[in-house]
This record gives sequence, C-alpha cells and structure tokens, in this order.
Amino acid sequence: MNLFDSHTHIDMNHFQNDLEKVIHRAKEAGLVGMVTSSMGPGSFRRTIGIQKKHQNFVFHSAGTPVSQLTKTDADKIIELTRKYAKDIVAIGEVGLDYHWIKDSRGREAQEPLFSLFIQLAKDLDRPIVIHSRKAEERATEILEKQFNGDVLMHCFDGSVEIAQRVSDNGWYITLPANFERYRNRKLAAKIVPIEQIMLETDGPYLSPTSERNEPANIRYGCEALSRVLETDLLSVAEITTENAKRFYRL
Ligand SMILES: [Zn+2]
Repeated sequence: MNLFDSHTHIDMNHFQNDLEKVIHRAKEAGLVGMVTSSMGPGSFRRTIGIQKKHQNFVFHSAGTPVSQLTKTDADKIIELTRKYAKDIVAIGEVGLDYHWIKDSRGREAQEPLFSLFIQLAKDLDRPIVIHSRKAEERATEILEKQFNGDVLMHCFDGSVEIAQRVSDNGWYITLPANFERYRNRKLAAKIVPIEQIMLETDGPYLSPTSERNEPANIRYGCEALSRVLETDLLSVAEITTENAKRFYRL
C-alpha cells in the first residue's frame, strides 16, 4: 500500500529527539513520501537540512506562521524561497486565520501579506497550499480573483457551499487523520471527488491517537476515508497518493 503525507511539520521541536525514527516508521507504514511545511525563516532553514538528507522522500513546502505573520517575516520567507526555489515544491501553508485573529482590522491586515505569497507562487509557477481557518469563504474569493494555478485547501473545514465551490474550481483538499471527528470534514469528503482529495497528518497536531501525531499515522486517515466513502482501502491509498504526486509535481 502506497501512502503519502501531504502536509506535516517534521522540523518542529516535537520531533527533534527522534526524527530519524519518525521517518523510518513512516517508511515502514507504507509512505512513499511526505511534504513538510516550514513555518518561517528558522523553520525554513531547518527544513532545507532535513529535505537534503532525505531526498525524494521529504519534500519542502515554504510556508508562513499565518496567524502571526509580519511583513518582516514575509519578506524573509519570500527571499529564501526565491533563493532555494529549486528545492521548493509548493508555496504554503499561507492564507487567512480568523480563529486566532478576531478583530476586523487584524483580519484585513492579513490580506496584503497573503497576496504577496500568491504572487510568489505565480512567479515561481508552484502550486499553493492554503490555511484558511474559519476564513474559507474569504480565502476562496481572494484565490478566485488572484490565482489560476493549483490550489490545496489544507485541513479543509469549510461549509458544504464552499466545499462545492472548491470542488467546482478543480482545487484540492486535504483531510487530517482524525477527520471523522469533524462534521464539515466528513461532509467535504463526500462532496469533493476523490481525485481532488489528499491525506495529511499535520503532525505534530491533530492526532488520531492520544500521542503526538506523526506521518506514519496517515494510515488512520486512509482507513477513515475508506469507511466514509465505502471504498476499499487500497484504492483510497493509491488514488490519494497519485493526487499528491500530481499536485506537487513529483
Ligand atoms: Zn499545518
């Protein structure tokens, strides 16, 4: 069974003591690759090191700390991404966060920074990975206006209407390994065609177990999607892995 973790954060300090074991366990669990999303300049540099050590297994998506992004960090991340562009498979996660940012001024202030990364994805001809926590509709509007390339709504938790719009736009969603616990995510799994769905752990977050989440747990998401769609496990694994390879152009 070929599995793929389409979005994780293995450079984080949660993994610093046993990263090699984590990667080994991922391979044992049937993963053929993973995309790890850096979350700022320091994270970017750490991720370069990990990606170089695990060529063709760990891939780097250059992202941002969406809810705390500053112009200074955005400029630095963009500079690094241009410099190391050949080792970057996607831009993101980037986007809007209305969960942590509640005041309208703070929310609006995220938009010009988001647009800088949309422009970067256009300039470098890369797909874009979107964080849109509680802001799915606005993020969708902005992308429809500003971006023509491939879009992944990571950890999608939007309404049925937005799921339908994402699907009609030909965009992708990722579902986390514990997605059956969330009503919107279960509904989205049925609305968006399986050819536009990928699996992610978002490790160390969103664990399907009581432990830290890690890429090997992608099989829980595969089992959950197989249950929700009433499709056999092997097909779900193969299709979602192919989707990830197509989206990230691996
Ligand atoms: Zn993430």
